[in-house]
Amino acid sequence: MKNELVDHITTIFHETFGSAPEHIVRAPGRVNLLGEHVDYNDGFVLPAAIDRATYIVFAPADKDFSTLVAVDMDQQASFSPQTISSKTQVNGSPLPEWAQYPAGVMWSLNEEHLSTPAMNAVFASNVPRGSGLSSSASVEMTFALAWQTLSDWKLPSMQRALLGQKAENQYVGVNCGIMDQFASACGVENKLLLLDCRSLEWKTIPLPEDVSIVVADTTVRRKLTSGEYNKRRFACEEAVRLLNEDLPTIRSLRDVSVEDFNRLAGKLPEEVSKRARHVVEEIERSKQAEALLEAGNIRRFGELMNQCHISLRDLYEVSCPELDVMVHVAQSLEGCYGARLTGAGFGGCTVNLVRRAEAEPFAKALANGYESETGLGPEIYVTRASNGAELLL
Ligand code: ADP
Ligand code: MG
Repeated sequence: MKNELVDHITTIFHETFGSAPEHIVRAPGRVNLLGEHVDYNDGFVLPAAIDRATYIVFAPADKDFSTLVAVDMDQQASFSPQTISSKTQVNGSPLPEWAQYPAGVMWSLNEEHLSTPAMNAVFASNVPRGSGLSSSASVEMTFALAWQTLSDWKLPSMQRALLGQKAENQYVGVNCGIMDQFASACGVENKLLLLDCRSLEWKTIPLPEDVSIVVADTTVRRKLTSGEYNKRRFACEEAVRLLNEDLPTIRSLRDVSVEDFNRLAGKLPEEVSKRARHVVEEIERSKQAEALLEAGNIRRFGELMNQCHISLRDLYEVSCPELDVMVHVAQSLEGCYGARLTGAGFGGCTVNLVRRAEAEPFAKALANGYESETGLGPEIYVTRASNGAELLL
């Protein structure tokens, strides 16, 4: 396996620890193709692991603590099962923010009485941070697999995903759903993943060879998005509470059909109704997507992505002018099947399905079109569905 990033972190491992690493693990970022803002409504999501990943080289350490070098942060941290409950390092100083992700994984594994042997490790990533491609989940899933590699326990990939989510929710304190860790742990090359967020059952769906996934980062980051996110979650809960009067068996918006919703929507306050309509219709779209993709009907699937964007813009109201420009330009270009904002919204990335032969010219034209309308230079990644976390050595 030839990979410049791995060569680089291997060199740093030698310099730092004076020996060669014994193992290499990678765990990818992810992008969601359909099913947006439905994970916390028990819906279906359709992510893929992408070919950008966090890589770690490591070896067991003859000490009672682990030492990690975060190359991208140019920092080092040392902690052990004894120090993590106080979020400190072995020398008593606080854990830096980045180290809380691996320390959180150690914590959630230890909570399950799974050992996390001391290791020396160097890691780095080509998943951009904070742009909605789940660099955090990719870091968590590299460490979960690294500790598994040095231990005598073995968990199914979904279990490692759940423990990563627990680390992020309870140790780091970020309120994320299961999709990110799931895709990073369970990804399959050239496949989309269809996850039922209620039962956690999942399956793979083939993506045709001649289709590329293109991710376009607006480079816009909105502040205060967690407050807006919480408001959306609250509106969904409110809709369920109000619809319960007529539909006593529903537990979440997942249980509401489009027909029932159309019949009862007038009883909801306008804003609650708009938010809930997005969720109900998006879950319906993701159900249709399965059959379309199984039949190889990318054209129609792309139309669902376009509809999803309109719904996120007008009903869920989580878009922003830059995302709308990126989607609008993409949809006008040759070879584009579908384009929409992906992730929480208010900035970040769009996801595009593009005919493979057109992917490179598409990426160039999209960058030019976006820049001339907004004055901002975007980041465009032509990517493909990749394997989830894996031991490479
Ligand atoms: P994302 O959407 O990329 O997951 P988050 O805000 O959830 O954004 O996670 C980003 C955080 O994850 C970073 O601030 C850092 O703490 C941690 N992280 C991500 N990638 C790396 C990396 N390569 N090295 C160290 N820490 C990282
Ligand atoms: Mg994250």
